[in-house]
Amino acid sequence: MNKIRNIKGTKDLLPDTTFIWQELEEKIHHFNQQFGYKEIRTPAFEESDLFKRSVGSETDIVNKEMYSWIDQGGNNLTLKPELTAPVTRAYIQHELGKSNPINKLYYIDALFRRERPQKGRQRQFHQFGVEVFGSKFPEQDAEIIIMAFTFLQSLGLDDISLEINTIGSKSIRGAYITILQDLLNKYRQDFSAIDKQRLDKNPLRLFDSKDLKCREIVNETAPTIYDYISKEDRLHFDNVCSILNDSGIQYTHNQKLVRGLDYYTRTTFEIKSSSLGSQDALCGGGRYDELVEQLGGTSTPAVGFAAGIERIIMTLENQIQRSHKSIDIFMILISSDALSPGMNLANNIRNKCNLSVITETLRRSMRSQMREANRLNANYSIIIGEDEIKSNTAIIKNMQNGEQINMDMDKIINYFIKG
Ligand code: AMP
Repeated sequence: MNKIRNIKGTKDLLPDTTFIWQELEEKIHHFNQQFGYKEIRTPAFEESDLFKRSVGSETDIVNKEMYSWIDQGGNNLTLKPELTAPVTRAYIQHELGKSNPINKLYYIDALFRRERPQKGRQRQFHQFGVEVFGSKFPEQDAEIIIMAFTFLQSLGLDDISLEINTIGSKSIRGAYITILQDLLNKYRQDFSAIDKQRLDKNPLRLFDSKDLKCREIVNETAPTIYDYISKEDRLHFDNVCSILNDSGIQYTHNQKLVRGLDYYTRTTFEIKSSSLGSQDALCGGGRYDELVEQLGGTSTPAVGFAAGIERIIMTLENQIQRSHKSIDIFMILISSDALSPGMNLANNIRNKCNLSVITETLRRSMRSQMREANRLNANYSIIIGEDEIKSNTAIIKNMQNGEQINMDMDKIINYFIKG
């Protein structure tokens, strides 16, 4: 019979890798707590309309990458392809803004996009990110940019670069878009079907078209949105830059950085790693002051970022030492009478001494069990056979120096508490 395999673009994380994920997740929690950000968790799927109304129907994500289906009740559902919309939906639904003028939230989550799989690009992948609701001020943009950059630096990534830009408020976009359309219409015949559609509906998307020719034309002919933004938008951007300058973080102002999603206003930013190859974006984000209102909430300014966990781990891979974490005790059980007392003792040691104890469940020979204790790098083994059961004792072997002692069962907990 054919073996069933995992779905293309998804990955199993096996035990020799999950420890890296656990360590990274711990660091993410700790880092966010240091900044006073609190975790939010949202469901794996949402109403499809949420993404159509927020991410935008002209984006690649909504156009062709969403895993959507109609369920048995006729609901149109989608596995979440990004986190800003679900977190904003939850923020509005639970009226978080009423109890707190500022909500600083973070998440670690799985996402689903039907992209063409390649190195660094999967169909199920993971992000950690932050979303802050309530502050319209530039120091809030600066705070999250600094967070993203210093977090990646704190992991030891030294080949990262930061690009920032502003795409201004939505109010100026109309005029700019008309100019862009007039200019780019001349090159219409060179664009793919999807880029022609973008040219008509949302030409800003052309800046990050996947078609090289289209990108070249846009980059060479189109004026950047930066030339059209308002005085207030420029002041906001200058203030963000000034805080970044004072913080000593190096960045470049890339006037073409518009980011792929519809909801951004003002600040946009991206962090890349030079060691990643073609999929070099590690983290992206920006301000989205109009999204809360657009999704039915009270107008609330907001800003956030998302960083790809698989890509972070890829960049860390060279530095990661395969860890050979030792365990505290391997419980060698040699007769069937030893099974229950041995398992009880193991549980008591775990509970009272806070140590890791592995018990034998394969009924192997004494020699094989001792070999297993060595393979697992156990600090101690506890051996219980027929003689020990009769005398209500156990043998404690120090695996480092080979010393063995025979000890009454009821003294063992104390022995390990004292260390
Ligand atoms: P985005 O939500 O597209 O702005 O992506 C934010 C970050 O998520 C990117 O900078 C990448 O690190 C990561 N990312 C995006 N798409 C994928 C994917 N298909 N596979 C793996 N990581 C991804």
